[in-house]
Amino acid sequence: MMHTPATDPNTARQRLQTLGQQDLFKHAISRDAGGLGDRFQDLVQAHRQLGQTSLDTGLILSLNAHLWGSVFPLLHHASDAQRHYLDKLLHGIWIGGHAITEPQAGSDLNRLTLSAQRTDCGFLLNGHKRFITNTPIADLLIVYARLDNRLSAFIVEKDDHGAEFCHGPDVESCKSATMGDVILKNCLIPEHRLLGKVGAGTLLIQQALELERAFIFAGISGIMAEQLTHVIEHSRKRRINDAHLGKNQAISHKIADMKLRLDTLNLWLQQCARLKDTQQRITLASAQTKLYGSESFVASSLDAVQIIGSAALLGKQPYLRWTSDALASRLFSGSSEIQKNIIAALLGTGEGYRLPPEQP
Ligand SMILES: Cc1cc2nc3c(=O)[nH]c(=O)nc-3n(C[C@H](O)[C@H](O)[C@H](O)COP(=O)(O)OP(=O)(O)OC[C@H]3O[C@@H](n4cnc5c(N)ncnc54)[C@H](O)[C@@H]3O)c2cc1C
Repeated sequence: MMHTPATDPNTARQRLQTLGQQDLFKHAISRDAGGLGDRFQDLVQAHRQLGQTSLDTGLILSLNAHLWGSVFPLLHHASDAQRHYLDKLLHGIWIGGHAITEPQAGSDLNRLTLSAQRTDCGFLLNGHKRFITNTPIADLLIVYARLDNRLSAFIVEKDDHGAEFCHGPDVESCKSATMGDVILKNCLIPEHRLLGKVGAGTLLIQQALELERAFIFAGISGIMAEQLTHVIEHSRKRRINDAHLGKNQAISHKIADMKLRLDTLNLWLQQCARLKDTQQRITLASAQTKLYGSESFVASSLDAVQIIGSAALLGKQPYLRWTSDALASRLFSGSSEIQKNIIAALLGTGEGYRLPPEQP
């Protein structure tokens, strides 16, 4: 329980690479493509177990950025000349992620400005990305840039001339996810580094984020399960007025709420896995899972602090870290508000909804 996550980039990279050596990047990928040939149900199980043993939201975030940000986009869109990237990422020889957010734009993709210009020698990239998970430890990132005013996806390697994968301003949540800035100054990459078609960037972002939203809480559900076990143990051991702490209904009801949130989250995760395993769409379910997961993580982390009392605030205890990570989870992969916009739009209402053209 006193486990402190690694924030040093070398250790963080090694830890992620070890997960690759343990085949954790190969779930839900066919054997033909170099995967284990198992199902999304198996991926959820494996991620949950990692959450339970590591208790580290940052590590879970790193794993998810690597998978949904680079492995799966390459799996779905890589040309023959790009397949070698996938092999390295699947084995954890290389670490990846995706760079969408910029200092002036997160939720609003229309305001992204990092630019790509076609030249005789390839594409020239210029701009700045921020809050990018895995940046200081990544070998490549899928970078989204505006080419002829349309978003397109590019494979950028850390050693590309004009590319800097660096530490950004310190983020106090999910620290072991080693986030950073990507600065591209006249970064020239060959033409074959375009991933997918010109202008397919928005589609690739949507596909990547749908998967990330559906499954990022698989690992976090493992952390929440441990959180629950610990507060139950504490509520049984701690004596208040000659009885155990949990005898107070105010405490036991919090524990009941935590259990209900955890089990409901697990049902959502199973639903996403079932939909993917039967080749069905997850647009609505993934937004619901992400929204429910992050709000539950916040609520249960706050409940845990309240049940443990001031001891939860002691330096090496994980409760404050989880609370801070939970607040970050409301923002990463699209904020809670954006998930509500998506859900409302899919119901045919709200901000993101566009009226269908009038029938003649
Ligand atoms: C731990 C962590 C890891 C991250 N990893 C990555 C990564 O790997 N790659 C990457 O590209 N980005 C990453 N991000 C960035 C993240 O995706 C953005 O922070 C997120 O998209 C929100 O953007 P923003 O912070 O710029 O907030 P803004 O977009 O400025 O939004 C501010 C507030 O306004 C609300 N808001 C915005 N638009 C609307 C709207 N239309 N309707 C209602 N409310 C709205 C938001 O919900 C939010 O509460 C990460 C962030 C964190 C915290």
